[in-house]
Amino acid sequence: MSNKEKNYSLIEIGSLAHLTQKEFNGEKGKFFLGKELGLTGCEVSLNSMLAGKSSPFVHSHKLNEELYIFLSGKGTFYVDGEEFTVQEGSMIRIASAGERSLKALEELSYICVQAQSDSLTQSTFNDGIKSQVEPSWIKNKDLAK
Ligand code: ZN
Repeated sequence: MSNKEKNYSLIEIGSLAHLTQKEFNGEKGKFFLGKELGLTGCEVSLNSMLAGKSSPFVHSHKLNEELYIFLSGKGTFYVDGEEFTVQEGSMIRIASAGERSLKALEELSYICVQAQSDSLTQSTFNDGIKSQVEPSWIKNKDLAK
């Protein structure tokens, strides 16, 4: 079965601690998963921004809202004239029209998810289908105790 016929795609990019030294799509410290994994409903980027660095511009989107999930570090986020602190545990949803930018005060690690606004019609329990197949950890769960 070729990769295209499988119901999953997997890549390994190694330690995320080295993300700032890597260059992806012409930008340092960024790795876009969409093309690599063949995502069809969202774009996801892994990001690392060194202390003192910042987004080179302010931007908004035509169709997509963004979710920023901050994993570590500290920074200042700008949206529509407001500036606020972001750090580990900060999660921001920004509507497509929001004009945004980011500056790292301490090295920042974050994930950004882009998806088309109003495209989500169902999720989690409304979308999941419980299957009867059993991977090894379910099949052998009594043996593992
Ligand atoms: Zn964006």
